[in-house]
Amino acid sequence: MTRAALVTTGDGWDRFAPPLAAALAGAAPDVRLVPADEGADAEWVVIQDLPEGFDLAAFPRARAVLALWAGIEAILPHVPADLPLVRLVDPAGLTAGMTEWVTGHVLRHHLGIDRYLGAAPHWDRHVPPLARERRVGVLGLGALGADAARALAGFGFDVAGWSRSPKDIPGVAAHTGPDGLRAVIERSEILVLLVPHTPQTEGLMDAERLGWMPEGAVLLNPGRGALVDEAALTAALAAGRPAHATLDTFRTEPLPRDHPFWSDPRVTITPHVASATRPDSAAEAVAANIARALRGAPMEGTVERGRGY
Ligand code: NDP
Repeated sequence: MTRAALVTTGDGWDRFAPPLAAALAGAAPDVRLVPADEGADAEWVVIQDLPEGFDLAAFPRARAVLALWAGIEAILPHVPADLPLVRLVDPAGLTAGMTEWVTGHVLRHHLGIDRYLGAAPHWDRHVPPLARERRVGVLGLGALGADAARALAGFGFDVAGWSRSPKDIPGVAAHTGPDGLRAVIERSEILVLLVPHTPQTEGLMDAERLGWMPEGAVLLNPGRGALVDEAALTAALAAGRPAHATLDTFRTEPLPRDHPFWSDPRVTITPHVASATRPDSAAEAVAANIARALRGAPMEGTVERGRGY
């Protein structure tokens, strides 16, 4: 019998311990879940949330740290350098939620739904183009971006994507490198940001790259606030490139009450809800990864420190 320690804050233990214990009983029955303060000899460290000042060196026998979320940039500096960090890859929960958020907000802008909201007695017929006539770009074709791009292509959208390594995704024109980035930004009427926050992607959408967007384009950022230069975005919105931004993530969260985005009608704010960790499916994903490691297979979502994601 080995142990998995669950590191939590608030009601994290109550929400995540029951599904994790059940998932481990199914996938890795020799692993017992314990709270962090009883897990000094744990081989697996599962993090729901890291308490202020918590030292992950508290687990000298740990073989891996498994995060219950996907964007690991904030936790990476706290994980001892010799310990693998694994981010959450959860097709049934995290990925499904993100794909629903992305397709929903793409369809809002594609169909011009805002035009018909409100009660004005005005017979304003505006026939939107078909999806195949709408160019959508997805920056980041990982677990989340690739699934969203596939779903958009499934609607018929003319989809292009960008990633570090080449991809082969049916219905998606895949690009890499600086030229590929420019090509995707320049052609996208709706652009979705789903790259992780790393030193390379910090401020990815700066004034110059925002200026590459077509006039009237829409920016969707469910990735990370730090991918966007917020002051440059405010100026770009005034110039109409993009004409609207739907933002789920921000440099400071919660977004401060006096932030100019709140009062800008060209900005839609969703409060970091694009995709939340769903305890049941996340627990299954974590338990499956521990089971993989126990049989000597690589865990899904292992972070490469040199890349920062
Ligand atoms: P992945 O690591 O699976 O995918 C990242 C993608 O970005 C990959 O395609 C990767 O390329 C690409 N990429 C990374 N760096 C670069 C670069 N410098 N240049 C070009 N492409 C790059 O991550 P996920 O899809 O699981 O998650 C993406 C992000 O979504 C998370 O990091 C997180 O910030 C955010 N997120 C937001 C949530 C929300 O609720 N708002 C919820 C969950 C996640 P390659 O494929 O070649 O490695």
